[in-house]
Amino acid sequence: MYSDIQDILYSEEQIQDKIKELGECISADYEGKNPLVICVLKGAFMFMADLVKRIAVPLEIDFMAVSSYGNATKSSGVVKIIKDLDVPVEGRHIIIVEDIIDSGLTLSYLIDVLERRNALSVSVVALFNKPARRTVELEPDYTGYVLPDEFVVGYGLDYAEKYRNLPFIGILKPEVYSS
Ligand code: 5GP
Ligand code: MG
Ligand code: MG
Repeated sequence: MYSDIQDILYSEEQIQDKIKELGECISADYEGKNPLVICVLKGAFMFMADLVKRIAVPLEIDFMAVSSYGNATKSSGVVKIIKDLDVPVEGRHIIIVEDIIDSGLTLSYLIDVLERRNALSVSVVALFNKPARRTVELEPDYTGYVLPDEFVVGYGLDYAEKYRNLPFIGILKPEVYSS
């Protein structure tokens, strides 16, 4: 599986160092607030697990699954809720945990949904950000690493449902797409 990878962009250690920093910022900002931390499945599952360990305030977690991509490498622009939250968000401080922001379509849709459900506040933490590809105006409140305009896999992120288990983030060899 590692032989399909052309370049490693960020190692396991670099990712964990960044998550520690993000956790410290979030802990300071949410002191005394008991936030509801929402993981956007499936891509953010690994980030979510590592991040909440670094947030030192009482919190609750929930999961949401949305689809905007299918198996392609570009956004379809259509966002659908596949799995909704188990708990109400009304009156809660929400932290959305995303793997990567690309066009921004998925997140702007999610923020809108949560605000219409009367969340008290909604913030976004994204491990990776590709600002060059944005089609809607949206900046995460907390960002890990800024990436170039390339399709990446690993650390939760897939290509056709594969590579999510890689401990690092990398770029696939071009022949993987064409085969
Ligand atoms: P957006 O709506 O911002 O275009 O992106 C939505 C979702 O597409 C992201 O949360 C992520 O799951 C997926 N995505 C965006 N860019 C990449 C990428 O470079 N690699 C992978 N594997 N998924 C991506
Ligand atoms: Mg995602
Ligand atoms: Mg995907």
